[in-house]
Amino acid sequence: MNISDSETIAGYLATMNYERTNIVEEADFIFFHTCCVRDSAENKIIGRIGETIRLKEKNKDLIIVVSGCMMQQPGAAELLLNKFPHIDLMIGTSNLNSIQYLVEQVIINKLNNLKYQKAQIKCFNESNSNFDEDAPILRSSWPNSWVSITKGCNNFCTYCIVPYVRGPEISRHPENILNEVHNLLKNNYKEITLLGQNVNSYGNDLKSEWTFAKLIEIASNFEYNYRVRFMTSHPKDLSQELIETIAINKRISKHIHLPIQAGSDKVLNLMNRKYSVEKYIKLINNIRNLIPGVSITTDIMVGFPGETEEDFLETMNIVKQVQFHNAYMFIYSPRKGTPAAKMPNQISSLEKKDRISRLIKLQNKISCEISKEYLNSTYEVLVDNIISDDIYCGRTDNGRLVKFKAQDSNIIGSFVNIKIKYNKGSSLWGEII
Ligand code: SF4
Repeated sequence: MNISDSETIAGYLATMNYERTNIVEEADFIFFHTCCVRDSAENKIIGRIGETIRLKEKNKDLIIVVSGCMMQQPGAAELLLNKFPHIDLMIGTSNLNSIQYLVEQVIINKLNNLKYQKAQIKCFNESNSNFDEDAPILRSSWPNSWVSITKGCNNFCTYCIVPYVRGPEISRHPENILNEVHNLLKNNYKEITLLGQNVNSYGNDLKSEWTFAKLIEIASNFEYNYRVRFMTSHPKDLSQELIETIAINKRISKHIHLPIQAGSDKVLNLMNRKYSVEKYIKLINNIRNLIPGVSITTDIMVGFPGETEEDFLETMNIVKQVQFHNAYMFIYSPRKGTPAAKMPNQISSLEKKDRISRLIKLQNKISCEISKEYLNSTYEVLVDNIISDDIYCGRTDNGRLVKFKAQDSNIIGSFVNIKIKYNKGSSLWGEII
């Protein structure tokens, strides 16, 4: 989501004649787009903002702007500004369409020598109900592209800050989504990822017949050679209609990211996830029966308040049982303002670290074993990047990253057949055939 937002921000700044630089010391303008989902992301961004004090001392005209969902937390912008008074402007996620005006104000103040004017803070939710359809998106990841279909979330998982900082779930008008997809295909994009906090509930607020299954079916029916992916799914909302649509549509990637979060019903209940382990397993079995070759990845959180060693062992058992291709594994970190932050029985940091290391070890072993099943088979890979010199990478139809050697950079953006020769841990290495 933040990569997608950042492309919008870059687009607005490009209309003001700003160009990207990779050398931070040369920048006239530094834009931090923050995330507050975990405290590690917050700490990292605070460190980076701190580093710019020295740059601003050298270049008083340097403009520092901070944006993103961290700014949407009550009082967060003011606190950050007290710590770093050299920031020029703070903008919330719902106010990105005001960037040009707000940046112009900063520049005018600087021209008028109002250098020490306190930063403006523009972090309100008043425009949350509208998608910015006219945003001049500056995409930077061809042949891949991101298309937002919803924003916000109604689920209120007890550990999660998103519904508070991104507001209620709003579905984008299907016509606008499909127009954007069509335009991307006309511009030679090869992979479209439909994005939302919970894409499965797309359309619930539209008061019409639109479902996510219907949307992705139409989005994958244009006459071009391309793939459609999506993220993220909530297990409680992933419908039979969607599974069947994925199964029969060759342009829809056979990869489903389905966060389980925990393997204990008690913990899932405390998290307000609204499904049981049994229901999750049934869903996985159904998906695997209907979509041969599907890869399933997940998110798992350890150390949620009240998680006992027995609860954690249930998570380990589910991981063994389901055999996820891969998992994003996190230590729970309390987010101020969420119910879980105030729950009793918070888990010690030592305990959390011990659990996450056992979980990572187990999942790595499983991912490595699954990767071996790919050896000596051939897959169609969409080449999307160069890693170094003559090493390229791309993804299979079921979302597996494959690395291989090639000589011609024109290969990026093509579909090639790759025979998998070996694996290094979970990563797959092959050669073009
Ligand atoms: S579904 Fe839960 S975890 Fe995902 S964004 Fe919504 S509240 Fe957060």
